[in-house]
Order: sequence, then C-alpha cells, then structure tokens
Amino acid sequence: MWVEFFEFSTGAIMAYLITRIPFLTFPRVKSWNEQFPPHPEPVYVDEHLIQRILHMRIFYWLALVFAIIPLTFGWVSLGHGSAPFGFGLWSVSGWLVLSRITSFISSEEPPFTKQLAMRLQRVKNVSTSEKACCAFAQPMWEVTSVRCNTCGDILLKEPRPDLGRPRSDGWIMGFVRLLLTDGRPIIMIDEEE
Ligand SMILES: [Zn+2]
Repeated sequence: MWVEFFEFSTGAIMAYLITRIPFLTFPRVKSWNEQFPPHPEPVYVDEHLIQRILHMRIFYWLALVFAIIPLTFGWVSLGHGSAPFGFGLWSVSGWLVLSRITSFISSEEPPFTKQLAMRLQRVKNVSTSEKACCAFAQPMWEVTSVRCNTCGDILLKEPRPDLGRPRSDGWIMGFVRLLLTDGRPIIMIDEEE
C-alpha cells in the first residue's frame, strides 16, 4: 500500500514539475532580464514589458506541449512498468491539460493574456498623449496596480503577475511560490501604502 502511494506521489510530482519547466526556467536567464529592474521592484510600462507579457503567455501555454512527456511516460508505465507511478503521471498532466483548456470557457483568466498586454499598451499610449495624468507621466507596474511614478495616480488597477525575473525571495522560496501560484499575482491582505 505505502509503496503504491509513494510511486503515485512520485509520478504526480514529476508530472507537475515537468509541465512547469518552460515557465520556471526559460524566462529567468540573466541576459533576458537585463532591461528590467530586479524583482520585486516596480517595472516601467514600456515595450519591453509588453513583449515580456506576450513571452510569458507562450511559456504558460507551452506547458501543454510539455505535458506530452508525462502523458507518454505514464502511458508506457501503466502498461509495462509501475501502474501507480504511471497513474500519478497521468492524473496530474491530464488535469493540467483539462484545466488549461477549460479556462477558455470558465471565468478564470490565465495570468498572461493578449488582453493584458493590450491594457498595458493603452496605459503606455495614454501616458504619452495629452490625456496623461501629468506632464511627466511615468507608469510603473507595482505589486497591486500600475501607478504613475511622478504624480502617484493609479493608471490601471491590475495586480502584477510573476514576470519571469529571478526572484528576490531566493531560489528555493521563489521556486516553491511559483509552483503553487503558476505566476498569478499574490495579493497580500495588509498592504503597505
Ligand atoms: Zn502622473
């Protein structure tokens, strides 16, 4: 019984990690983050940030491609190896595929969408137009919203998801946090103003 449970858990954890590889590793390369201030500082809303949102969107959906790996190994393992291990691989990767696909019809939006990139583009456009909040508008994306660095106006009420920068909370804590949230913003209850 315990052996089966252990094998199932190993399969489940492996599938979970494999499907998060693109999101956890690819954007965190140092050369890829030089145009951004270090995490968790606010990020200036410019074309680099908008490009980054679109890249993070690709990595988020790449999980579906990476899910093929545990699904295949799970299939082989179910037939020829350890059935609990294969079932562990299958259930987690299958759940990921199902939940990501059904997110199209459910109300839960993925953390990175084209719409989000467009909302940021609009903020950027407005900040350089006559309708800007002030003469030297500088939209910065803080933890809970996009705010003008000059006058302090809130330009977009949208919490910041993980942007793929190396985490300031250290490799291990950052890794755990990202595994649990999938990059979704974490809103703290009592927030400093
Ligand atoms: Zn302003």
